Order: sequence, then structure tokens, then C-alpha cells
Amino acid sequence: MNLTDPRFQDQEKAREWLEMQRWPDGPYCSHCGSFSVTALQGKAHRPGVWQCNDCRQQFTVTTGSVMERSKIPLNKWLLAMHLMASSKKGISAHQLHRMLGITYQSAWFLSHRIREAMADKNPTPMGGEGKIIEADTTYIGGKEKNKRLGKRKASNIGGMGKQIVHTLVERGGRSRSHHIANVTGKTLRPLLVTNVSRNSTLMTDTHGGYHRVGNALVVFE
Ligand SMILES: [Zn+2]
Repeated sequence: MNLTDPRFQDQEKAREWLEMQRWPDGPYCSHCGSFSVTALQGKAHRPGVWQCNDCRQQFTVTTGSVMERSKIPLNKWLLAMHLMASSKKGISAHQLHRMLGITYQSAWFLSHRIREAMADKNPTPMGGEGKIIEADTTYIGGKEKNKRLGKRKASNIGGMGKQIVHTLVERGGRSRSHHIANVTGKTLRPLLVTNVSRNSTLMTDTHGGYHRVGNALVVFE
């Protein structure tokens, strides 16, 4: 493993690397999902702060992540994650404390947060026996009139060109949202299969494109 990678050494490089990972199709609002966002520049703002043109809230690449509001530099977070993910034996808080040059207390906090976040990467399906999952598809943001002139497309005015967010909500429980490219069975099927327990009842809001049949989820094109 190459620990001299710039993202492990430099806070700004770490942020840029995270932005590439989180937003391969360009930045979008962490609050409402809109792609209509502006980078805040100038002395009043630290680098990496964005403002949403739709909901007007500010966000950064770490908003909603374990790194949000942390005083520990991003490059140290990335190095800690890398070390913890690639070590077969595991890394103790004491090792992190020495390797990252942070206090033992910070290292302990960091390792706990990272362990929790890693556990979430393999989430159990939502729902289950007798539970109801509601699926909702929302079109948001990307109003053509808000885009820079050169980026407007006549064909996008109306419903096209908007971002589609598909949300699964467990009644009285968790919810999970995903950006999707289009509302077809091909796109929705893997989402439902990986996120919803097969013993749940699936209800849809407006589309009615998928139903539960027996114990399986069936998606219609
Ligand atoms: Zn927003």
C-alpha cells in the first residue's frame, strides 16, 4: 500500500479525492439531491463549501458522513480508513495514534467511527416479515432556467434532465435514497433486490411499476 499518496498527506488533496469518489457525475446537494449547485469562493469560505441553488443550504463532501464536523484533518481520516480496511489483523487505536500523529483520544474516536461506518456498508435488507416498504420516486432540481445559458437544453425543459431519486421507506423505520438514471425495471430491480427483504410488502407511490408476487419482488418495465 502506498502511504505516500497525496490524499494521505494533504488535506486539500484528500478533499478533492473524496469529491471524485462521492460525486463522479458532478457534485449534488447533500440535503435535497439537486445537481444545481455553486461552489462558494472567496475568503469568507473554506474551500470545498457548496451551496444548493434549489434548497439554498450549504454542504461539503463530508456532509452526512462520519467525517462531518470533525477537527481531525481529512487526509488523516483517509489514511486511517485505508489502514483499517487493508489490515487483516485490525489496527488498534494505539497504532493509529502513533501512525497518524494524533492524540490517543482522537485515534480512539476515529477508529470507532470508522468501524461503525464500515459495518454499515453491508446493511441488512430493510423490511421483513409483516413490514411495509414504501417506494417513492421523486424528480428534483435541475430546472433548466437556472442553468448557465450554454448548459441549457430545450429538450430538458419539463420532466427530462431532472435528477431522479428513488427512496425506499420502511414504515416506522429506516429509509434509503438512491440516485437513479431512469425509472425502468432494469434500474429498479437491483435496488429492490439488494435493499428490501423479500418478506416485505412493497407499496409504491405513483408509479405502480413493481409489485410483490408471492415471496419475490417483480418489477415491470
Ligand atoms: Zn439542496
